[in-house]
Amino acid sequence: MGETAAFLARDLSKDSSNGFVSKSKELQTSVNLEDKTYVIGGDGDTLTSSINVKIYNNSTGEWVFPMVLGTKPTGSKSHCSVLLGGNRILIVKGDCSVNDCAWFLEVDTKFVGQQRENHGSEVVAWSKGVIGNFEKPIVISGPSGVGKGTLISKLMNDFPSMFGFSVSHTTRAPRNYESDGVHYHFTDRNTMEQDIKDGKFLEFASVHGNLYGTSIEAVEVVTDEGKRCILDIDVQGARSVRASSLEAIFIFICPPSFQELEKRLRERGTETEEQIEKRLLNAKKELEQGQSTGLFDHVLINDDLDNCYEQLKKLLSLDGNPNINTELAHKSETVMDLERIPANFSVMKDDQKILITCVDFETICNKPSMFVLDISSMSGGAPGRTRGLNMYTLESVTIDDKLIQN
Ligand code: ADP
Ligand code: 5GP
Repeated sequence: MGETAAFLARDLSKDSSNGFVSKSKELQTSVNLEDKTYVIGGDGDTLTSSINVKIYNNSTGEWVFPMVLGTKPTGSKSHCSVLLGGNRILIVKGDCSVNDCAWFLEVDTKFVGQQRENHGSEVVAWSKGVIGNFEKPIVISGPSGVGKGTLISKLMNDFPSMFGFSVSHTTRAPRNYESDGVHYHFTDRNTMEQDIKDGKFLEFASVHGNLYGTSIEAVEVVTDEGKRCILDIDVQGARSVRASSLEAIFIFICPPSFQELEKRLRERGTETEEQIEKRLLNAKKELEQGQSTGLFDHVLINDDLDNCYEQLKKLLSLDGNPNINTELAHKSETVMDLERIPANFSVMKDDQKILITCVDFETICNKPSMFVLDISSMSGGAPGRTRGLNMYTLESVTIDDKLIQN
């Protein structure tokens, strides 16, 4: 490789004066952890390819090229690295939107340890940082025809920037008003079974004779938008999610009576008589399980729709404040989506806050000069996203036109 530990040590002492931060204009940074030096980027990274990782073992004097798991960040003009808690490295990318700027390279987390054992080799894992207050996903279950879809639609219409729907996969045929990728990802059984084997699903179940499942991607897509994820899944699926690492709120919707459920299902007119019979038979079992197992945190009776919707909003703490205020408050938090981290910046770690200072006069004209990335509510991590990051501007600097002209 032509690079030596001495070279790296010199590089680090020059760049990471506080021992935590390393910055490089050559798209390469390095972080020391015990006897290892993690070298991030460089090696011909281009702006379209991903950021590389290699490890220099200071005890043996050897380079190690680890197995790199997870989606890798694309290369950028500049980046900074900050060691966090001895088990992960925060990479702040420059010249990109705030939504793509925070990435975590896990080097010694529980997940990485397990994978290292499984593969018998050095492993590191990337996890994308997601900005936005992380609120638990909401799992909504209940028998077919009870009104789950109706309630979810009302919530999504009233709070479009707060909630996002987890689009499930199914092997059932689309109804005439349903579109692929919006209501479901419609697929065939062979493909779905293969995807299940490949570990792409958070949960899946055979429901009314068809396969239904929530892919990890479906939940992550919503999380990436900084929204709270809503899952409309059956009781078996809810049980699987309970057993998974995804912490959620579980709500079961009941009909006021079995007769009313049958009436709604028939009047919806989307199923054949045979399918209706099957769904009603399954409804009996689901109603028993939903109300008796203690699996659900809340049970709501959908008798009068408006009344049930009010109860749903109440338990999601959306009542009291006028809807519009909650929605506007959320929007103001997401204004940051439009901001960009310039190519020229430096970072400093102050406890649970990372200060990102923009150092280019031109780039800060009428733009924030300092961002704060607050990691105090950080949760999740590889093999998924790192959630709960908060980002805000510390000060807005408006530069006099004359100053720039000078
Ligand atoms: P699910 O998603 O649980 O299968 P839907 O949301 O499709 O159920 O609702 C089934 C039918 O019942 C729809 O035609 C819907 O308009 C109707 N519906 C939903 N809630 C109520 C309610 N509270 N009172 C009367 N009809 C309702
Ligand atoms: P429908 O065919 O009426 O859209 O849905 C039938 C049932 O499948 C509903 O109870 C719904 O909640 C459930 N369902 C939809 N998507 C999923 C999923 O991804 N996983 C599981 N387990 N059930 C699902």
